[in-house]
Amino acid sequence: MRDRVYRTEALILRRSDFGEADRLVLIATPGGKQRVVAKGARKTTSKLAGHIELFTRASLLLAVGRNLDIITQSQIVASYPTLRRELPRLSSAYYAAELYDRFTEEGDESRPIFELLEATYAALDRTINPDLVLRAYELRLLHLTGYRPHLHHCATCQELLTEQADRFSPQLGGVLCEQHRGADRASLAMSGATFRLLRYLQSQPLDAIEALRLSPAVRGEAEHLLRAYVRQLLERDLKSVAFLEDAMRAD
Ligand SMILES: [Zn+2]
Repeated sequence: MRDRVYRTEALILRRSDFGEADRLVLIATPGGKQRVVAKGARKTTSKLAGHIELFTRASLLLAVGRNLDIITQSQIVASYPTLRRELPRLSSAYYAAELYDRFTEEGDESRPIFELLEATYAALDRTINPDLVLRAYELRLLHLTGYRPHLHHCATCQELLTEQADRFSPQLGGVLCEQHRGADRASLAMSGATFRLLRYLQSQPLDAIEALRLSPAVRGEAEHLLRAYVRQLLERDLKSVAFLEDAMRAD
């Protein structure tokens, strides 16, 4: 049985009003995604309120509740001040949180995914390339959730790709070889520079991003390709949920 009170590291991802004076808080923890309650957090006298700021990393003491667990203490461990002050960084943090929410389920334990999100917020706080941090985050999150895009072997035949490959297929999950470049009529054009960037981001540490100097065209294309792939995956998931619900009703 779980202890009645437990401590966890957490990233604060979303807050919403709950009841008269409480807040419902979405957190990422090494034990997975979790919705918890901060009681009285909207009262001006609340000691908790200042310690449950959006996009901070906190050490939380939680009490097991009947439905949702309750935050009894919070201490900010990292506040990422630049991230929370500048709009492009802040909007990137929202996007990273939403992607985490969409690609994970409550109770899916994953320290690597938690550490990825933490490293991403730390990087967004200090980087000169927030967009590239997000691209690296997308690639790593896709890898950790089982959707790593094929960037080294053809998404259709698994043959080793050459630098001449120039089509990316969101539907088939990656880059197509010269022989299969027509396999998906909805595949997207990809320049050699963008191909090199995606491979680089998939394999290099986050800090390596700081040395990159790239044209807006390459940055834009990388964003376009990964966004299309993410959209494809999420729509497929949503469709499977809708299909499941239809099946349940018909039964
Ligand atoms: Zn092929």
